[in-house]
Amino acid sequence: MPIDATRPYDHDNVFAKILRGEIPNKTVYEDDYALAFHDINPQAPTHILVIPKGAYVSWDDFTANAPDGDVVGFIRAVGHVAREAGLVAPGYRLLANAGLDAHQEVPHLHVHIFAGRPLGPMLAHPHE
Ligand code: 5GP
Repeated sequence: MPIDATRPYDHDNVFAKILRGEIPNKTVYEDDYALAFHDINPQAPTHILVIPKGAYVSWDDFTANAPDGDVVGFIRAVGHVAREAGLVAPGYRLLANAGLDAHQEVPHLHVHIFAGRPLGPMLAHPHE
């Protein structure tokens, strides 16, 4: 079910549990600002999720409310993960679903990194 990105943070969401080590994950990278791990249901040969360590519902919440250092640290972590995975030359796509129309399902900000094949047009059905 897509979530309303304006709702308060739910500390029991699945990515909060992953951050607390209550649910296992295949970690790709971790630093003070971010955790990156493989998506459980990959949509491309490479499908990595990068999440901030802080409790932010969405891109909107994060960019409105996170301290500058957290924003910089998180964005640098996304770039670092893509570089370390060797994705710069072949190319990759970033996606952050925010709220209902975007079909955000997990109410903790996450950036998807897709790569490993030509990814096609930006949206599956651009005219619907
Ligand atoms: P959204 O639709 O919110 O942008 O994407 C949520 C993503 O989280 C989906 O791609 C889904 O496969 C992934 N996901 C949901 N639960 C888990 C989990 O427990 N572990 C991992 N690694 N990924 C998850």
